[in-house]
Amino acid sequence: MKITKVDLGHEIFANCYVLVDEKSGESAIVDPAYYNAEIAEKFKEAGAEKPKYILLTHGHFDHIFGVHGLKEASGAKVVIHDADAEFLHDPWKSLAQNNFPEPQLPVVADITVEDGSELMLGEEKIKVLSAPGHTMGSVCYILENDRVMLSGDTLFCMTAGRTDLYGGNEEMMIASLKRLIALDGDYRVLPGHNRETTLERERTRNWYIRRMVR
Ligand SMILES: [Zn+2]
Ligand SMILES: [Zn+2]
Repeated sequence: MKITKVDLGHEIFANCYVLVDEKSGESAIVDPAYYNAEIAEKFKEAGAEKPKYILLTHGHFDHIFGVHGLKEASGAKVVIHDADAEFLHDPWKSLAQNNFPEPQLPVVADITVEDGSELMLGEEKIKVLSAPGHTMGSVCYILENDRVMLSGDTLFCMTAGRTDLYGGNEEMMIASLKRLIALDGDYRVLPGHNRETTLERERTRNWYIRRMVR
């Protein structure tokens, strides 16, 4: 899978990744936090002019604000965990209200996923791992063939997502992190904010995991 991180032009926005299965040409966009003509061009350059899926790690505005525009332009199917689907049409739950100057245009989820759900890009499997804690509907997307984990706002380099927002729960976050670090072997971890890391590095160095999980 070809993976490209796309700069959406403002640090408030989450990391956005373009996934392209080069064999079939099928593509997906993870957390399109914003969308405009310039970003559309970047998606096209990355090989995702007509993405099959918009994969959302959770429903916060800094991950979903571009979903409406991208779905309209591309017809991509919007994928989100059932528990966060309502964030797509509720700017209070998504935190867009009071935090972002533009109105949040409502979107309906096309595919709601749960733990163990699987999606295909060509013959490449994307597995859904439910990871509640930051929000009830937070998920990690696992690309098993590439040993890549898109960890959203659950696992970050050296830390973890906050649990004090709507739907957040610290005990669930700890349980989710325990589950992630118990996975076999190593993964390249592409988080929703800040720089990428690896699961092995986070098992030993992550301060949140060291203090709360062990
Ligand atoms: Zn975020
Ligand atoms: Zn978030």
